[in-house]
Order: sequence, then C-alpha cells, then structure tokens
Amino acid sequence: MTANVARVADESADDVEALVYASINSALLQGKLVPGQQLVERELAAAFGCTRGALRKVLARLGFEGKLELEPNRGAFVPSPSEEDIRATYRARQVIEAGVVVSLCGALDAGMRRELAAHVRSEKKALREGRVDEAVRLAGQFHLILTELAGGAALVTALAPLVARTELYKALFDPSKATSCAPDEHAQIIAALEAGDQAAALATAREHLAEIEERVVRQARLRTGRDLKAVFADLAT
Ligand SMILES: [Zn+2]
Repeated sequence: MTANVARVADESADDVEALVYASINSALLQGKLVPGQQLVERELAAAFGCTRGALRKVLARLGFEGKLELEPNRGAFVPSPSEEDIRATYRARQVIEAGVVVSLCGALDAGMRRELAAHVRSEKKALREGRVDEAVRLAGQFHLILTELAGGAALVTALAPLVARTELYKALFDPSKATSCAPDEHAQIIAALEAGDQAAALATAREHLAEIEERVVRQARLRTGRDLKAVFADLAT
C-alpha cells in the first residue's frame, strides 16, 4: 500500500478516495487481509498519505457494501463470519438464483445469448491474462446479468449484496484460486438454459454455488482450527 503514497499526495480529494477505495477493496478480494483484522485509521492514513477524513469515508463505503464491519468507538474490521453466516448467505443466493434459472430456462433470445456468451469470453480472457480483480468482478457480474435478464433492476438490487458477500468469503477463506466461479461452469449453465432443460439447469446452477460454498466452509473450519480431523488427516493414514 505504501507504493501509492506519492501518487495520492497530488490527486484531488475524489481521486484520492477512489484510489484508497480501490487499494483496500483489491486487498480484500485478493485475500491479503485476514478475517477479524482491524484496519487502523491512523496506520492506513499514513500508508496512503491521505487524511483520516478521506480514509474514514472509504471505510464507511466499504462498510455499507458489507465488505467491512464498522464498530462504533472500536473501528473497522475485516468480517469474521461464522459457518452459519456463510451458509445463510449462500442459501439466500441459491433461493434467488433458482428462481432466475426457472424464469430464463428455454427463454433466452438471440440477443441474450450473444450477451452471455460475450461475457463468458471476457471472463476467460481476464483469467488468462492474470487480471485477478477483473476476473473476480466479471465472475460475480455473470450472476447479476442473468438476474437482470430474469427479473430486472429490482432483483439485481436484492442479489448484488449477497454476491459481494460471497466473493469476500471466498477471498478471505479460499484465496487459492483466482476467482470464485469457473467460466466453463457459467457456459454449462447457459447451455442448459438454452436447451430448456429445467432440471439440468437447476442442478448445474445449484452445484456451481454449492461447490464454492463447501470449499469456503472447509477452509473456514481449518482456519478457526475447528476441523482437527482434517488437519491431522494425513497422520491418521
Ligand atoms: Zn459463477
């Protein structure tokens, strides 16, 4: 983060905030911060060479987006969700996204197919070129595009914070893979929707999310030391 100091000093207030926001957001989505870690205002303001006022605005925005937890008189913390928190968020996504799949199954017109196919191509390109932030953003956006096609802006408003949360959980607990979603699996969902096979489309979409959920929960257990059996699995054999 110190690399930004020189640049920050010369920028206008809005640009400074945008830059600080992008840096912290990127650190979160790349799993560089750990659950429960405190983001100390004074230290960060010094690292970015910005005012504490500017930093406070950025932390407030990240808190509003659900990416940080803000505790009055204590400060800003990286979320440290329980297993139940994690499962509840994925469950909410499953409920909404099952409705999206049912509504779009066999109902994709040529324009929608082109839009979705082009999006999956851009996901693959970002991954290939190692643009991790962009790959994560595009992967989440795939789900939001499907949701918009099915239910419009109101439904997107319901799903967007849940997608942001799950992206964060993935980054915090399972940062090994660059992105939370495999573009090939997105292509499979599109294919099932095009084929009009509702059972297959639902199963593909459900497994796509469930697989990520299980990986995140497994890693979260290891992190908190709850899953001792997994930790010592190698010794037992
Ligand atoms: Zn996905």
